[in-house]
Amino acid sequence: MRVTYYGHACFLLEGSRKVLIDPFLRGNPTAPVSPEDVDADYIIVTHLHGDHIGDAIEIAKRTGAKIVAIFEIANLAKQKGVDAIGGNIGGYMRLEDVDIALTNAIHSGWGHGIYAQPTGAIIRMDGKVVYHAGDTGLFYDMKLIGDLFKPDVALLPIGGWFTMDIYQAAEAVKLIRPKIAIPMHYNTFDLIQADPEEFKKLVETQTDTRVVILSPGEHVEL
Ligand code: ZN
Repeated sequence: MRVTYYGHACFLLEGSRKVLIDPFLRGNPTAPVSPEDVDADYIIVTHLHGDHIGDAIEIAKRTGAKIVAIFEIANLAKQKGVDAIGGNIGGYMRLEDVDIALTNAIHSGWGHGIYAQPTGAIIRMDGKVVYHAGDTGLFYDMKLIGDLFKPDVALLPIGGWFTMDIYQAAEAVKLIRPKIAIPMHYNTFDLIQADPEEFKKLVETQTDTRVVILSPGEHVEL
């Protein structure tokens, strides 16, 4: 599986299927691609804030990708004329060649005139498991996410202010115990400035997890 970072909280996972997560591209000055240039089979939307649902509807309309999200967000997507699969926090939804589970995330979730519980997501494809934490504060049940899903990779917000900072994200790594952690949701705006090298040092001196810092446009192969 190839994991490509498109800046902020947006990643493209490519294997048997293409799974795009939180495509905030047009409004993101650090995005290396525009919404017209991305392809996907599934688009996961973790919550309704503009920097996460972003260009998801537009991309789904153009590509025919299905939006995968919590029930209320899926309904909203259907109302906007795109295909969507609604689930909820719990076990895997078994889709074509990819299993997706939604997890808890400690955050708020208003957008497009409705409230929807924010989530993280677990993506299992081609024998690899990726945990995208969404926007979240630190919560101790991340240990259960580690126990149950055994993520190979954890994509973790480190920018602080609206989410975990580098210190809290380093604690999250101890709870989740992934092989690789990739920082996200930092340095897009002034309020979420963070030093990913400092995060890497914190994690790698205290755990067996390797931190891979991706600049927007870069990828890692699993
Ligand atoms: Zn948010």
